[in-house]
Amino acid sequence: MEHMKLILLGPPGAGKGTQAELISKRLGIPTISTGNILRAAVKDGTPIGLQAKAFMDAGKLVPDDVILGIVEERLSQPDCAKGYILDGVPRTIAQAESLNKAGVVFDAVLSIEVLDEEIEQRMTGRRTCTRCGASYHLTTKPPLKPGVCDTCGSELIQREDDKLETVARRLEVYRKETEPLKNYYTKHGNLKTIPNVGSIEAVNQEIMKVLGQ
Ligand code: AMP
Repeated sequence: MEHMKLILLGPPGAGKGTQAELISKRLGIPTISTGNILRAAVKDGTPIGLQAKAFMDAGKLVPDDVILGIVEERLSQPDCAKGYILDGVPRTIAQAESLNKAGVVFDAVLSIEVLDEEIEQRMTGRRTCTRCGASYHLTTKPPLKPGVCDTCGSELIQREDDKLETVARRLEVYRKETEPLKNYYTKHGNLKTIPNVGSIEAVNQEIMKVLGQ
C-alpha cells in the first residue's frame, strides 16, 4: 500500500530502529525517530537539546509537549506526505491522544516483542552512529568496519543511556508508561504483534507479510 503510516512499538532494544530502517527502504517512506532527533539536538546544543539532555541521560521520558512539537514539525515536511514510520513515539497514552487530536492517523501499529532476558544483552551490545543515528550490534549486526557507520562513514559510539546502569530504568519506564499503548491500540487501532525471533531479515519479511506487502 502506498502512503502507509505506521507506528513501531516495543521495549528499548527490541529492534525498532533496525526494522524501521528496512521498512523505510522497502516502502520508500521516512522514519521519524524522536530518539534520533533528540540526540541530534543534544549534539548540536539547540534549546530543545538542552532541555532534553538531563531526561535522556537519566533514562526518563522527555516531556510530552516537547515531543509533540518535534513530531508535528517533522510530519509537516513534504516527504511525509507519502507516509511515514514513527519509531519511539508515541511513548505515553497522552502522546497517543494528542496525535489523535491533531488528526494524525495510522494504518497499523507494529508491536515488536522480545524476551525480557534478551533486552540487556541487546542494549549493551548496541552501537549507534553519531551522525545519522543508524544502529548496529557488536554480535548480531556488526558494521563492515569496526567503529565506523556503513551508511555514512561516521564514528559509532555506545549511547550514554545504553550503559547498564540506565537500561533498567528505561525498561521500568517502558513497562509503566509505554506498554499500556498495546491495549490502547488494540482498542483504537490496528495492533499487530511481531515476535522478534530469527534473523533481522526474517523479522522484516514477517512485518512485510503482516502489512500485506
Ligand atoms: P530512543 O532512542 O527511542 O530509545 O529514545 C532515547 C531517549 O529519548 C528516551 O529514553 C527518552 O528520554 C527520549 N525520548 C525519545 N522519544 C521519546 C518520546 N516519544 N517521549 C518521551 N521521551 C522520548
